[in-house]
Amino acid sequence: MAEHGAIFGAMLEEFNVAARIINLEPAVWNILTHPKRQVMVSCPVQMDNGEIEVFTGYRVQYNITLGPAKGGIRYHPDVSLDEVTALAAWMTWKCAVAHIPFGGAKGGIVCDPSKMSRRELEALTRRYVAEIIDLIGPEKDVPAPDVNTNDQVMAWVMDTYSMHVGHTATAVVTGKPIEMGGSLGRREATGRGVMIVTREAAKHLGIDIQKATVAVQGFGNVGSVSADLLARAGAKVVAVTDWKGGVYNPKGLDVAKLIDYARDHKTVDGFPGADPMDNDQLWPLDVDILIPAALENQITMENAPQVKAKIVTEGANGPTTPDAHHHLHTRGVFVIPDILANSGGVTTSYFEWVQDRYGYFWEEEEVNTRLEKKMCVAWDAVLKTSLKYKVDLRTASYIVAIQRVGTVTKMRGMYA
Ligand code: NAD
Repeated sequence: MAEHGAIFGAMLEEFNVAARIINLEPAVWNILTHPKRQVMVSCPVQMDNGEIEVFTGYRVQYNITLGPAKGGIRYHPDVSLDEVTALAAWMTWKCAVAHIPFGGAKGGIVCDPSKMSRRELEALTRRYVAEIIDLIGPEKDVPAPDVNTNDQVMAWVMDTYSMHVGHTATAVVTGKPIEMGGSLGRREATGRGVMIVTREAAKHLGIDIQKATVAVQGFGNVGSVSADLLARAGAKVVAVTDWKGGVYNPKGLDVAKLIDYARDHKTVDGFPGADPMDNDQLWPLDVDILIPAALENQITMENAPQVKAKIVTEGANGPTTPDAHHHLHTRGVFVIPDILANSGGVTTSYFEWVQDRYGYFWEEEEVNTRLEKKMCVAWDAVLKTSLKYKVDLRTASYIVAIQRVGTVTKMRGMYA
């Protein structure tokens, strides 16, 4: 790419470290560092006050070497082509690490959904889908929810696409409501994957998960399910923070009750039987496992030197800045990178797509069993690679991804 922004630049930095280690041949290096397709669309929407507003949307298909492009749609005022491109690249590597037959994509609309009515959001979603209709489809590009989009938005995506093609096409999108072709287990899948890799890392490091202590930042979909499943595995969850505040109990929080409390109060703050705590107090806690599961850029050089945890599992996307990651790794903190740690979500999206195309739906137990297997295989591949090349798990994940996408790039050859 001739020019790129800071977020794509950060992705490239990580990519280049891994590519250098495996001596990636220049032609493949060149191909894998360019997005296949970047599309920008304008979406006029009649607002509730009668005026027309024009929203900018993007869809980037970064790489489709391994299969249809896969990636969420984000609604946020800060969406930019740079961000969407970087996220599409990360989806490419995540799908490759998870060893599922998908390429990587991402979409986004520059908007503030908190200021829009349900009708306006539906109109915007449908117009955006109409603008990118030729790009998406079960064999082409399969969107999913991301920041500020949910199963209702996916239902509108599916319906708009289906109306255009003239038949019901459930497999065009994942993260749908169960009633219309969603998968059982999808809602919990990312947190379940976080639990699985954390458990495997503890095993690898000789930490008894039954005696391990855990602190979690963020108690939404990923954070709450990770905490719940780790508690069920025997670990003691001692601290949780969210947007409003947090709670700490060195004897262990009752996670099931905390989930009920957070559902009713929209925050964990004020949960009875625990001391208040904020993010600044979370990082230095003397715990075995720390799970950032909220936002990007949370562990920085300001707080990384205070982190005492032995394992940091990145439930969120990009929660650790590159210099903080380097610092943690140098100090011997075992960081399980996002493209491995939170890949349970896209893996179960793959299961949803398979079930939709098959027209036959699995029991939740089958979904969970298959996810367990896939996560363990991905974990093993990354761990072996990190031991072989003596690199951190993030670099190892990139190596696994680059080798998988690179091998198929060479097999398929150059069409010109
Ligand atoms: P969510 O909206 O359900 O939850 C986010 C949580 O973060 C909330 O508890 C919120 O209170 C908390 N939070 C927000 N600002 C905070 C702050 N400043 N300090 C502490 N906590 C704060 O979102 P989610 O689906 O759980 O996603 C969390 C992260 O995981 C995101 O980075 C997302 O991209 C990533 N992720 C999610 C999935 C998925 O399947 N949901 C898959 C892969 C990656």
